[in-house]
Parts: sequence; C-alpha cells; structure tokens
Amino acid sequence: MDTLAPRIIVHAGQQRNALSQRLAREVQGEILFSSGDRGRYATDASIYQVDPIGVLVPKTFDDIRIAVDICRELKAPIIARGAGTSQCGQTVGHALILDNSKYLNQIVDLNLDAMTVTVEPGIVLDQLNAALRPHGVWFPVDVSTAAQCTLGGMAGNNSCGSRSIAYGNMVHNVQAIDALLSDGTEGCFQAMAQMLDDTSRLGALVQSLRDIATREHEEIARQVPNVLRRVGGYNLDIFNPQSVRPYTPDNSVNLAHLLVGSEGTLGITRQITLKLSPLPANKVLGVVNFPSLRAAMESAKHIVTLEPTAVELVDHTMITLGLGNPAFAPVIRQALIGEPSALLLVEFAGPSRDAQLHKLDQLADLMGDLGHPGCVVRLPEAHQQQALWGVRKAGLNIMMSMRGDGKPVSFIEDCAVPLEHLADYTSRLTEIFHKHGTSGTWYAHASVGTLHVRPILDMRVDGAEKMRAIAEEASAIVREYKGAYSGEHGDGLVRSEWISWQFGPRLARAFEDIKALFDPAGLMNPGKIVHPPKMDDVSLFRFKPSYQVLPFQPGLDWGAWNVTQNPREQTSGPAGSGNDPAKGFGKAIEMCNNNGHCRKFDAGAMCPSYRVTRDEQHLTRGRANTLRLALSGQMGPNAFVSEEVRRSLDLCVGCKACKRECPTGVDMARMKTEFLYQWQKQHGTTLKDRLIATMPKWAGWAARMPWLFNARDTVPGAAWLSEKLLGFSARRTLPRWRRDTFLSSAPADHHDDADVVLFADTFNNYLESENAHAALTVLSAAGYKVHVARPASHDAERNRPLCCGRTYLSAGLLDEAKKEASRVVSALQPFVARGVPVVGLEPSCLLSLRDEFLVMGLGEDAQALAKQSFLFEEFLAKEHQAGRLNLPLKALPQTRALLHGHCHQKAFDAVRPVQQVLGLVPGLQVQLIESSCCGMAGAFGYEASHFDISMKMAELSLLPAVRSAGPDDLIVADGTSCRHQIVDGAQRQAEHVARVLERALA
Ligand SMILES: Cc1cc2nc3c(=O)[nH]c(=O)nc-3n(C[C@H](O)[C@H](O)[C@H](O)COP(=O)(O)OP(=O)(O)OC[C@H]3O[C@@H](n4cnc5c(N)ncnc54)[C@H](O)[C@@H]3O)c2cc1C
Ligand code: SF4
Ligand code: SF4
Repeated sequence: MDTLAPRIIVHAGQQRNALSQRLAREVQGEILFSSGDRGRYATDASIYQVDPIGVLVPKTFDDIRIAVDICRELKAPIIARGAGTSQCGQTVGHALILDNSKYLNQIVDLNLDAMTVTVEPGIVLDQLNAALRPHGVWFPVDVSTAAQCTLGGMAGNNSCGSRSIAYGNMVHNVQAIDALLSDGTEGCFQAMAQMLDDTSRLGALVQSLRDIATREHEEIARQVPNVLRRVGGYNLDIFNPQSVRPYTPDNSVNLAHLLVGSEGTLGITRQITLKLSPLPANKVLGVVNFPSLRAAMESAKHIVTLEPTAVELVDHTMITLGLGNPAFAPVIRQALIGEPSALLLVEFAGPSRDAQLHKLDQLADLMGDLGHPGCVVRLPEAHQQQALWGVRKAGLNIMMSMRGDGKPVSFIEDCAVPLEHLADYTSRLTEIFHKHGTSGTWYAHASVGTLHVRPILDMRVDGAEKMRAIAEEASAIVREYKGAYSGEHGDGLVRSEWISWQFGPRLARAFEDIKALFDPAGLMNPGKIVHPPKMDDVSLFRFKPSYQVLPFQPGLDWGAWNVTQNPREQTSGPAGSGNDPAKGFGKAIEMCNNNGHCRKFDAGAMCPSYRVTRDEQHLTRGRANTLRLALSGQMGPNAFVSEEVRRSLDLCVGCKACKRECPTGVDMARMKTEFLYQWQKQHGTTLKDRLIATMPKWAGWAARMPWLFNARDTVPGAAWLSEKLLGFSARRTLPRWRRDTFLSSAPADHHDDADVVLFADTFNNYLESENAHAALTVLSAAGYKVHVARPASHDAERNRPLCCGRTYLSAGLLDEAKKEASRVVSALQPFVARGVPVVGLEPSCLLSLRDEFLVMGLGEDAQALAKQSFLFEEFLAKEHQAGRLNLPLKALPQTRALLHGHCHQKAFDAVRPVQQVLGLVPGLQVQLIESSCCGMAGAFGYEASHFDISMKMAELSLLPAVRSAGPDDLIVADGTSCRHQIVDGAQRQAEHVARVLERALA
C-alpha cells in the first residue's frame, strides 16, 4: 500500500473505521475493509495503485443511496466500479469503492418495438448479448473485454468496440441514464427536451449546463477534435456536435451523453437504457498478411473504402507471443501466409452472404492493386472468425505476457489520428521509442485510426521520466495531425492531466464548472478528468521506484520468469538470468496486469471459484494481487504465510485453467502449491491434510483391510465423527478400498523390449483397478507389448507402488512430493532412454509428469520423461494419426457419449484426444459437455468447508448436462474425482475412456 504520512494515517484510519461501522449498521451489502480486500481493489488494468478507504459490494441500489449519504457526511470520496478493467486508473483512488458487478447486474426491461434494453450497471456485456441473441438483436459496442466488462463501466469510459466504424461508440448507443448525484439527487438523464420542464434540481442543472455550452459554443468548435474516436473530457460538444457520427439522429441534445465518458465523476449510474441493433445475418473475415507494419498502416485508408465493419491490426509481437501460447497458436497459424510482420483483420457483415464473399474478392483485388498480391486468408465460417477474434481480443494481454522487468505501458496507447497519417505516425513513434532505448508493441483499430501502442518501460527504474518524455513528443505529433489524445480508453489518472492540452485551458475550466454543478462537494471519483494529479506521480504507481520484492526461497523452480530483458529488441535472457530476490516467483506473480480476463463466464474453465462466488478475492486476479502485495511487504511483516493470503487461495481448486487461459500465463495452481509449501513450513499441516497427503504410504494397508478403512461409510455415526474430528464432509461418501488392486494381478515381468509403459497411479491402482486393467487390455489388443511400471530395483521402498506425488503437492509437502517424483523418474528412466512412451490414466497424475516434475529440480531425466509421457487417449490418438493404431472395435449398444474433460486435460489441450478415440467406436456420437471444473478437484470437494462451493461449481454446467442425458447415454470422465462428483450430484456412473474402448473391442 502507499505509504502515507503518519498524521494522515490517523485521519484515514479514523475515517475508515467510521465508514465501515456506519456501513455495517446501515447497508445489506458486503463490507470489505481488510488490508487484503483493499489491496485487491487498489488497482485496475492501469499502472497505478492507491489504497482505497474500503469496498462496498452493494446488494441493492438502496445500499448505494445510503452509502452516498454516509460518505457525504464523512466527506469520504466514492468510486463506482464494474469489472475494474480500465487501463488509465479510472477506478483507482483513496475512496469507498462500490463494486456493482456482483449483485446489480439484471436486465430491467427489454423493448423490442423501441429496440432498447434497460440494464443495471453491473451486467457484463457478453451476458447481455447472450440474453439478447434469441431475439435477433445485440448491443454492438463490442469492446475487447466484452466477456467481463460491465455496461456501467462501458458508459463510464465511453467505450468503443472493434466495429465502431459501423456502430459508433458508447455515446452513440446510449439513450438514457438514471443516476444518483453526490447530494442525493436522483433522476433520469435523457433527451434535453424531456428534462427542461423539470422544476427540481435536475431542471436547474440542465439550464446551467446549457449556459456553459452557450458560453463555450465557439471554443467547442475550435478545440474538440472532429474524429469518431475521442473520449477525453466531458462531452460538452453534445450542445455543438463535433463527432463525425451524430450523437442523435436529429442532432438534438441528450443529457445522458454527458454522463457517458464522465468516468464516475458526475454521478452513479443506477440503470442505463441502450439502443439495440439487429444481429448481422452474415459475417466474413479476410486476414491480410503484410511484410511490414508500415505497409499495413498504409493500406488501412484504402481498405475502409470497401466499407468493412472492422479493420484491426495484429502486429509481429502479438503474432509471435500468440504462437507461443498453446491456446492461441493453432488459431493464429490458420491466418498466416509465411511469416508476415503484421496482419489486418478485415470484417464485412450484412444480410447477404454472397455480397460478403464478393467483398472478400474485392479485398484480394485491392491488395493486389496495392502491390500485395496473394496476401489474403479468407475465413468465411463463423467458428474460424470467432477463434481469431478471441485472439485479437486478448491482444493486449498477449503483449503483456512478456517476461522480465519492463512491461508495455499504457499512456499514449489511445491516440487516434486521421487515417491518412497513420503510417507516418507509426514510423515517427518508432523513432521516438528507439531514441529512448526502447520499442513499442502495437495493435490498432486501423479503421478509425486508433493506434494502441505501448512502449516497454520499467516503472521501477526510469519509467516515469521516459513516460513523460515520450508522451510529450508523441503528443506533438498528434497535434500536428489534428488527432485525439484519448481515443478509446478514457482519461483516468494517466490522461486527465492532458485534458487542458487537448481541449485548451478554457474548456478545461468549463469541465471544472460542469463537475461543480453535478458534484459540488467533489466526492465522485476525485482526481479524474478535472483537478488531476500528474500522470507520472510515482507515489501513485503500482511498481514505484521503492517497490521491492522481499527475499524469498521458493520450493519450486521459478527461474523461467527470472530473466533479463532487452526492451529495444524485445528479447529476454536465459532462465535465472534476472535479479528477482524471490528467484522468479515475484516476477511470475507480477505477470498479472489486472486486465480481468479471468472474470469471464463464457466457454473455457477459468476461474471456477469466481464463477460461483463472484468475489474478487476468489479470482485469479484477486489471488495474484494478494500474493504480490504480500510478497512485496505491502500487507505487513510475514504476510505471505498469513491467514489473509490463505483465505484468498482457499477456494482455488488448482484446476490449472488459468495456466492455459490467462493471456499472460498466470499459473495460480502452481503458485498455490508454492504457497502451501511455505504455509506448512510455518504452520504445519492438519491431520486431515496429512492423511490425504500420505495416502500412497497407507493405501497398501487399506487394500489389505478394506472393511476397516471403508467403515467410515458403513458404521453409523462414523461419517459425522470424521467431519467433526477431521473435516471430511459427512455429506460425501469416501472412495471405497478393495483387495483386488491392479498391481496385485498385473503382469510383473520386466519387458526390455516393451512398446509402451503403463503407469498405474494410486487411484486407478487401488480404487478403480478396472480402469487400469481395461487400459492394459486395450493396449495389448492393439498389439503393443506393455510393461507395467514398478519401482526401480534400487528403490528403498520397492514394494510400495509408484506414485506421482500429487497428494503431497496438494498439502504443500513438496519435499515428500519430490521424493515420490524421483522414484517415478528413476523407475522409468531406462524406458525413457530407449524412447518408450509412458502412458497413464488419471489426468492430474500423469500430467504432473509434464508439469510439476519439471520445476522440482529433478534434472534432465525428468525433462526427458515429460516429453514421453502421454495420457492413454493421447497415446492412442497419436498412434492413430500416425497410421499405426490397429485397434479392432465394434459398435456398442449405446450410440451417444457425453464427455466431461478433467480440468488438467483442458489445461493441456488433452480433451480432443478423448473425443478422437471415442470417435473410433463405430456409430458412437461424442458430445462434449461445456463445463468448467467439476468442483471435486482432488480432495477439495470432500472437505466439509468446501462441500457447498464444490456442489455449486458442479451445478454450473456439469451436473445439469449429465441429468439431461438419456438413460442409454454413456457418461465419460477420465478423472477419478470427476466421476465421484457425477455420482454424488447426478447419481450417474461415469467411466474412464479405457473402459468404453475395452467394451468396444471386437
Ligand atoms: C485487455 C483490455 C482490452 C480493452 N479493450 C478495450 C476496447 O476494445 N475498447 C474500449 O473502449 N475499452 C477497452 N478496454 C478498457 C476497458 O475494458 C473498458 O473501458 C470497459 O468498458 C470498462 O468496463 P469495466 O466494467 O471494467 O469498468 P470499470 O473499469 O470498472 O469502470 C470504468 C469507469 O466507469 C465508472 N463506473 C463504473 N460503474 C459505474 C456506475 N455504476 N456509475 C458511474 N460510473 C461507473 C468507473 O468509476 C470508471 O471510471 C480494454 C481494457 C483491457 C484491460
Ligand atoms: S490473472 Fe491473468 S487473466 Fe486474470 S487479471 Fe491477471 S493477467 Fe488477467
Ligand atoms: S487454478 Fe483454477 S481455481 Fe485456481 S486460480 Fe486458476 S483458474 Fe482459478
């Protein structure tokens, strides 16, 4: 947190206490005032960080009314917030933060005749559009953060979508805003004609606004840039329109448009009425491949003559980083011709598919005329387009996945220049960056001249000085080209200082007059738009020069993040070359740039705990922020192993979805393992955790005396006792032990000439041995000579089966996990050395050979093993693709299989192979259940404290899908805990893919 002078701390502390006590008495919402809670709301997707007074998550708008009254009394500022994805520091400040996203997110009214929808401010754009889709309409301001940003935030920032050339910005699509002002006045801001008769404060306010506008009529025309993309300052030009696209069809004044883009500085939005558009019937996408960035920029002005709905730039950095991301690589590859330096994504939309396809021909012809023949990849199908737009939307985040000290910094990322100057502007900026020893990352809404360029700066070192110098030089060019300094993302802390520069001192004073009319006490989001601080005030930075990571000895190897960086060349040094006192762990945490992509609810699995709780605390971002603040000493001494940090990680199920889906690669599952390791070193482990962790050690006894170990579920009262004494939920049955383990009857002979090694994990060996038998049978039927993995002859515990160590990892017992892992590595080394593939059944076990084993310091043998380890279905699918699989299969009585992928399968892109091998069964239709985590997640769902949340996760999509299955449908799930959750929640027996194939053997 920011260090405040002691005198102010007393004052701030008193204000904080008074505010939290009053709120606790008077509102129903959630009151979050702990240092961890404040820390999680101290940042947005900008470079800033300011400790808020506290956070209120209002349950109703009445809570907000009460909070505003209390804040007025206590002179406490207020910042309304949606998803907190602003890039300029709009939602950061020493204020009471109102998080509207959790409860105030309903559609209030849909009027298809009027083509309007009225919504609460916390509704997420994608969720609104999902609800509108069945009606054939949508809200077309399609910002890149559509999956998480809220309509309240979009209105606050006057957001703009990729298709603004066709639909305009937020201001062009808002019809009315109901708002609450800081003095308690409430009213509907709408067409001025309807407001003038108002005899209350609202009518007087409108009259005063009119007076200001009349006074500044000439100045508005002189100073407000005549470009579509201009979102700085207040939209005073509604009274003398300067936008190239009219604000209203008849140029009449609508006062809602003054609130749009006001960044919460004028009032708090209660509800917004939006204009809807018909869904376009057809869309096609042409991807133009360019040999240079300049060539792309030069072409933009020609391409817009074809009337596309979007023209978006993807630069070389984004292509390269995207190709390095497992989720994005295949999508990008489909759009490339050779090795281009830049792409323009050109979309055409409209009622006629033939007309759109013709546009693609015209695009190809145009590019030929411009000297770039054969450079257009056509993507006429919706699924291809969606995938590529997904990557483009994640563009900024992909840029941010750059490792090392410097990061692309947003401050001139938003300038918009007329299209004819785009190419020159790009080249001149490049020169400026080089002069300052750095380079930029680029992407652009090329159709409207908005260039999202971010120079790479290290804010801890000389970022502030370079930021100022670059901003001044860039702004001079923007002025020369008569462009706008703030073209999309707004002003916030980074650009409010530039308002006077952009609009002149006279209009800047007029903006102050407007603020004073609306918010005389200056309580609403102070310091934004008017009376701003300096953009390079280092005390407001998240990474200020005094920022320090505390020395820390991690248990896992985080060296891959600990690298030096050359910002000019955009290259990084080898693993371990950096100077992170936390040996790379600090740098790994700092990869989270707060963009909020983890708040999504669409396809994909991230982040299941947030999907259920909607709490910032239970979000990948919230966790990364908590860890960063703790590791940098901002949450007090020894905070890393504090209860506050433990709470924020408690509901992380370790699903690894963030590892794959977080665009900057924040791997919270691994971070949780690191945390648990540090935690147990300080606090020890509970009996329950130790029991779970040591399962591989006592499992042999359980198999010898299953009647005893199963007694917990058969003896009355035992389950209750296990909950009271140990914390296992009495509402769960536990897995059943049995005598007939797989390894007790599997072939024990050593095959020197084996084709494949079968690794039977603890769960499939002891609990569901039929899966391991099925895998052995299937592999043998396909003609492979199978060696069943057993401990090496020199293993001190050679009578105890191998185990990947996952149960130890889940308790943070890293040293024990490493011992288990080394046994596996050493037992399999002779086979790996001969190139024999290792095949496993349980996704979380086998895939740890490809993940955790690599960061445990196990050396080259572990690296080699990782390359040769496959899930059973991955191995078969690979063999099939290579034309080597000879598996005789017959049709089953069932014709449909519903497939639930284990989270780790999803994280390693290993669900497709299950679909592929099930597809080999004649006549079997495979339907994938679009699910996030099943909620069981190893031992998580068995714990009494997690039972309810675990079931809620399952109810999000998995259990309803299973319940909708017909009695003859197969339910396939490779994860042991997933199968258990499905039985518990839907009373259906799911099975491992190996068993389905075994039954289908001809
Ligand atoms: C990776 C990335 C890509 C982005 N791409 C785009 C893009 O394509 N186009 C674009 O325009 N922006 C983009 N942005 C910026 C940002 O996502 C948008 O401005 C978004 O609309 C903000 O929504 P939010 O819910 O996160 O709002 P927040 O950041 O929470 O708030 C935004 C502003 O609105 C105010 N506000 C919120 N709720 C209320 C309320 N109830 N009453 C009054 N004021 C309120 C806040 O005080 C703040 O000033 C991007 C950001 C990131 C990180
Ligand atoms: S965890 Fe990843 S997805 Fe979430 S905010 Fe941080 S960088 Fe974005
Ligand atoms: S591992 Fe899963 S639950 Fe944990 S933060 Fe990542 S996505 Fe969320």
